[in-house]
Amino acid sequence: MLGLMQSQPLLISSLITFAERHHGDGEIVSRRVEGDIHRYTYRDLARRSRQLAGALDGVGLAQGERVASLAWNGYRHMEMYFGVSGSGRVLHTINPRLHPEQIAWIINHAEDQVLCFDTTFLPLVHAVHAKCPTVKKWVALCDADKLPQDSGIPGLQSYEAWIAGASPEYVWPQFDENCASSICYTSGTTGNPKAALYSHRSTVLHAYAAALPDVMCLSARDSVLPVVPMFHVNAWGIPYSAALTGCKLVFPGPAMDGKSIYELMEAEGVTYAAGVPTVWQMLLGHMRPAGLKFSTLKRTVIGGSACPPAMITAFQDEFGVEVLHAWGMTEMSPLGTLCTLKNKQLALPKDEQMKVLQKQGRAIFGVDMKIVDGEGRELPWDGKTFGDLLVRGPWILDSYYKGANPLVKDAQGQGWFPTGDVATIDADGFMHITDRSKDVIKSGGEWISSIDIENIAMAHPAVAMAACIGMPHPKWDERPIVAVTKKPGAEVTREQLLAFYEGKTAKWQIPDDVVFVDAIPLGATGKMLKTRLREQLADYQLP
Ligand code: ADP
Repeated sequence: MLGLMQSQPLLISSLITFAERHHGDGEIVSRRVEGDIHRYTYRDLARRSRQLAGALDGVGLAQGERVASLAWNGYRHMEMYFGVSGSGRVLHTINPRLHPEQIAWIINHAEDQVLCFDTTFLPLVHAVHAKCPTVKKWVALCDADKLPQDSGIPGLQSYEAWIAGASPEYVWPQFDENCASSICYTSGTTGNPKAALYSHRSTVLHAYAAALPDVMCLSARDSVLPVVPMFHVNAWGIPYSAALTGCKLVFPGPAMDGKSIYELMEAEGVTYAAGVPTVWQMLLGHMRPAGLKFSTLKRTVIGGSACPPAMITAFQDEFGVEVLHAWGMTEMSPLGTLCTLKNKQLALPKDEQMKVLQKQGRAIFGVDMKIVDGEGRELPWDGKTFGDLLVRGPWILDSYYKGANPLVKDAQGQGWFPTGDVATIDADGFMHITDRSKDVIKSGGEWISSIDIENIAMAHPAVAMAACIGMPHPKWDERPIVAVTKKPGAEVTREQLLAFYEGKTAKWQIPDDVVFVDAIPLGATGKMLKTRLREQLADYQLP
């Protein structure tokens, strides 16, 4: 017997319609590429998103065709989130930090028809446009009078001139909630980019889940600054959850340095921010020497790579800001787990709480997870046994776009997505990533977590960033070494840093060497690029 409730498809357009009706005067503040601050409301966003949808009709774009963005976090990019997907086309958010060859490759792979870009990316568009035959319209996300002259890009039009001709009376189409809404390519830190193709259903369900109290806990009373880029897994879904909750949104544009982010947070009363650890490193690096404090920031989600415990402590103890450690992947829309304490843990001593808070946290309803051994047998949730982490759920990838189906089948025939992460899960369901399977160091038949080794180095006051990699060893297969950058003006020697490890980890896990480097290579999403570091240290010999 079927239920007798209304069946309404879960569509992205319903999020913006809701925000317009119930939070019409909610603010959206953006730092533009020109450097000035732009302000408008959800009402304006909804109106202009409909105009964009109409403009796409004008280009003759059919449902399901791809529209690409090369853009920072800002209001026009937000209009693309709703105008493109809401009208049934598929938004392809391109990560501009990828190599131009890779960008051309993914534009061709996605067969993008329209490409809208912030004018800062003109040189990039220049480099790739001739290699992208599917793109029939190039749009600069700017006012008509800011349109780059003699750009050499055929038919280049300004976004404002383009949408000005379209009516705001556009009516959002209704269609199957399983239709594709947007496409994201993985950043390729561990191979060629692969594409996750999200649906309206997966996106709306993820938006609901992301807003929950033990997840991002977003509310209409928050002022939210996503530092995580809208070109990286949809800024962790914040644009959608923001429309769902009506929170104020503050977009940093291209100015991601510590000073600009801090000033924007203070000026706009930001209560909530989200980003990868390397970005927060820059923010704290700006604030500490100047003795600055936050006057409104209450919570920050940190994820994308392991958040060093020293950073959690710094935010909490020095700045009074709660850190929510999050784990996810492009293939998971991206949220999988978030770390918030359970009631019984509130009474624990602080150092015990810290041990919990540095884990990646508990699964969100909608994400099933388990750890398995090499034969696919499920491993116990005892907080010690580690294994390959598998996940399944309605916002988790089934197949890559034009690619393989990576799922592994269990005994019941259910498909699970292999995350490529190695993790433990404790009896309370807190998952702890010990490593990426590709980064784990195998020494004498035992595994060493590169993340643990990095976290210890990061707790040293002179260390700015640390990356641990395994080096081939004739007896032990591999031994860990740690590459380190020092904080400006700070000093530490190899011997001092190795001595710092004493008592903090098992003796055999202490790295064999410390290599001081000027910079640790970062990938397109601000994560440490260990493949490149390994290349840089190709001639390195263990002592
Ligand atoms: P890419 O593989 O291109 O870097 P993603 O951005 O989707 O793409 O990265 C997902 C991976 O990032 C996860 O599988 C995991 O290894 C790592 N990751 C994400 N969040 C965390 C976290 N909080 N702690 C440790 N690792 C994390």
